[in-house]
Amino acid sequence: MILRLLDLHGMEEKSLMEMRGIFLTVIAAGVVVVAGSAYGEKLRVASLHPVATDLARRIGGDRVEVVEIVRSGGDPHHFEPGPSEIRAVAEARIVLAAGLGLESYLPKLMAATSGGPQYVLLGKSVKPLRFPATQGSVEMADPHWWQSLSNVSAAARKIRDVFGEADPEGRDGYEARASALLASLESLKEWAALEIASLPKSVRVLVTPHDGFGYFARDFGFVTIPLMDIKATNQPTPQRVSEIIAKMRARGVRAVFAEQGENPKALSEIMRETGARMGGELIADGPGSGGVRTYEEMMRHNISTIVEALRPAP
Ligand SMILES: [Zn+2]
Repeated sequence: MILRLLDLHGMEEKSLMEMRGIFLTVIAAGVVVVAGSAYGEKLRVASLHPVATDLARRIGGDRVEVVEIVRSGGDPHHFEPGPSEIRAVAEARIVLAAGLGLESYLPKLMAATSGGPQYVLLGKSVKPLRFPATQGSVEMADPHWWQSLSNVSAAARKIRDVFGEADPEGRDGYEARASALLASLESLKEWAALEIASLPKSVRVLVTPHDGFGYFARDFGFVTIPLMDIKATNQPTPQRVSEIIAKMRARGVRAVFAEQGENPKALSEIMRETGARMGGELIADGPGSGGVRTYEEMMRHNISTIVEALRPAP
């Protein structure tokens, strides 16, 4: 509308047009402010993790615009923000990150956007598990907190509170939508416990490409045998493969799992050596691929795949 008015005056004298241009820009700025308060400008949230994106959309509803910085289905371990992503983060009011060291670029991003958005590291809402120190690495927190349903409930409560503080007028809505989400997570937890109860303790072993299921294993009494630690991008060493094969033989493991985007060749060798079969593909790092759009769908998919693959034949 404002731009069109400016165009209409395009045929007038240049100096006059400039004056009108400045005047109309001032008016336009005023209009934006008025519109912001009168119609409720959306709370702008930048998300650095697919699970945070899903929770923010569920809790935020129509009042929140969630800008996906790390896209659903993307690899949050090896992401680096470019100039356009840094700009999008700077324009946000709130930034949701997984935290616990997952976003190694976070200090740089915070420095580049200092004085701008409020950063919320959701991993701070949970009690972290730790990866033990290995040769050449120090002990570090396991960032995959979202593989625990209880942790995700804690993260959802945090998002509800942060949204309510940033946008008090929307607080009732955030609370209502968060309550519905928390109830849904509770029933998912009951379903998961029932499903996994059908697996004897002795078969609860997860052989997976990367070490992303520590929290899941803790909650449901599994042992994890990952092929690689979370920093690794290449194949496991022959020594590591031998260790995995020995561990699997000792426990009589009958199935291994692939992961979205990560299917190391070593998995085939391990299957050949142990006679274990492919149990299916698990999703470790968040929804967004393989037709799985939400966090809850991801957990249902993983649990169904695991139970199907490991349940002993009747
Ligand atoms: Zn991961």
